[in-house]
Amino acid sequence: MQRLTFTIVIGILFFSCNSPAQESRGTEQNSVDTYSMKKNDEYPVQKSEAEWRAQLGDEKYHILREKGTEYPRTGEYNLHFEKGTYVCGACHTPLFESGQKFESDCGWPSFDDAIDGTIEFVKDTSHGMVRTETLCANCGSHLGHIFNDGPTETGQRYCINSLSLEFKEEQ
Ligand SMILES: [Zn+2]
Repeated sequence: MQRLTFTIVIGILFFSCNSPAQESRGTEQNSVDTYSMKKNDEYPVQKSEAEWRAQLGDEKYHILREKGTEYPRTGEYNLHFEKGTYVCGACHTPLFESGQKFESDCGWPSFDDAIDGTIEFVKDTSHGMVRTETLCANCGSHLGHIFNDGPTETGQRYCINSLSLEFKEEQ
């Protein structure tokens, strides 16, 4: 019986970490109280979608502007632990410090906190789940999701696409 339970637990862990979507592994889905009500034309940085596409190229455009999700374990920053700052891949606003990054087995860069005021939260009910989407507060571009199953004292896990970020090494 013990062995069966063990097998089931391992099976669940394996499945949850290899899922193609950025899913919560906790029971509570959301970790924020306030959702942004901002419309697209209310962000400080304003560009037409044609301008974004020309700037970003097809791959980054899909993630940042069409709310895409990169394949797990494929991103440049998934297991990247240099000292520096992660900025928005679209408008280059600093979003996360390297000290806020932690090693996660989920396949995407994971942070336990963000630089104050740089992230907006939106309720996301796509793919049959209720999740909290994270957006850049400066340009409204899609970054990833946030969950409240983080292993550090903040309890938060920002699950962010590498393609939504650029890294600036500490000088
Ligand atoms: Zn931005």
